[in-house]
Amino acid sequence: MTPPTGTEIAVLSQGRAAVYEEPLGPAGVRVRERPKTEPVPGAVAIAIRAASINHLDLFMAHGAQRVAPPRVIGADGAGVVHASGDPAWQPGDEVVVYPVVCCWECEWCRAGQNVRCARFGVVGEHSDGTACELFHIDARNVFRKPKSLSWSEAAAFPLTFLTAWRMLTTRGRLRAGEKVLVVGAGAGVAVAAVRIARHLGARVFATSRSDMKRRRATEIGAEAAFDSTEFSKAVREKTGDGVDIVFEHVGPATLNESMRSVASGGRVVICGSTSGVKAEIMMPRLFWGQMDLLGSTMGNVGEFKAVLDAIDHGLKPVVDRVYPLSDVEAALARLDAAEQFGKVVLSIEE
Ligand SMILES: [Zn+2]
Repeated sequence: MTPPTGTEIAVLSQGRAAVYEEPLGPAGVRVRERPKTEPVPGAVAIAIRAASINHLDLFMAHGAQRVAPPRVIGADGAGVVHASGDPAWQPGDEVVVYPVVCCWECEWCRAGQNVRCARFGVVGEHSDGTACELFHIDARNVFRKPKSLSWSEAAAFPLTFLTAWRMLTTRGRLRAGEKVLVVGAGAGVAVAAVRIARHLGARVFATSRSDMKRRRATEIGAEAAFDSTEFSKAVREKTGDGVDIVFEHVGPATLNESMRSVASGGRVVICGSTSGVKAEIMMPRLFWGQMDLLGSTMGNVGEFKAVLDAIDHGLKPVVDRVYPLSDVEAALARLDAAEQFGKVVLSIEE
């Protein structure tokens, strides 16, 4: 018999928790009470102070992720260690969670390529999530909370900053001085991209359908922001030959305009397709433009550490609004109405 690989520590969400129960949209997520237990060896139990929600939670609540309920939502969490089954952490330590589920033991995980793990998943989708009072996870997913951030800010960055960091650096090979276009600038991941690209010394441009979001994008670091419909003309007028990188998460509704906005030899990096799953593209633009079309999702633990280091050097998330856990339905509804700029956070009352 082959020995089991890895410890396969179960992720557990306990105490009061926001549970996806029925595919009804925001109304299908309800606050329930679950029994609390002590952590198993190798795991850490975190008293969550703040969790944040993502489009992923909303897709799940609408029944679009093929996740069988019940499931506690939330990939992002920050809190205080309540009890530890690992000597690396002590009760009272202030921590954040690397929001990836992986085995930690396979060749890919050992090589630091967590995104390639056969067991790779997202906390709150492939396991229960952080929107709860007491959250148990493998100690290798736990990192010290950046001192410069409030609890809400600490819960606002993990998934979106990890995703945007990998897209811009590892996949997009961004260099200081390059031009980056971020489409759909209100979404959490896009706001993260604006902040990260600026932090890394890029010139940043943004698009949004909303006046308010275009204004906010320029306030947090974009040089100019354009309306989302047919933005490539405006981008080319502003930049001369187009941008070096387009940051894409919208998909079919913007992809061709994104490809028109990129300069020769540029990169379009894609982490999502919120406007639909099928897109038709103009092939000549791809090969004639020497273009790289790059897919990316989440990030490795090394990329998470790089984000933490950048935060220690001044990088900051943007919190849109904070709701108590009991108002999780209203928090999801804000995302559903696309009213947010930055992250919607759930505060877990003590
Ligand atoms: Zn693995």
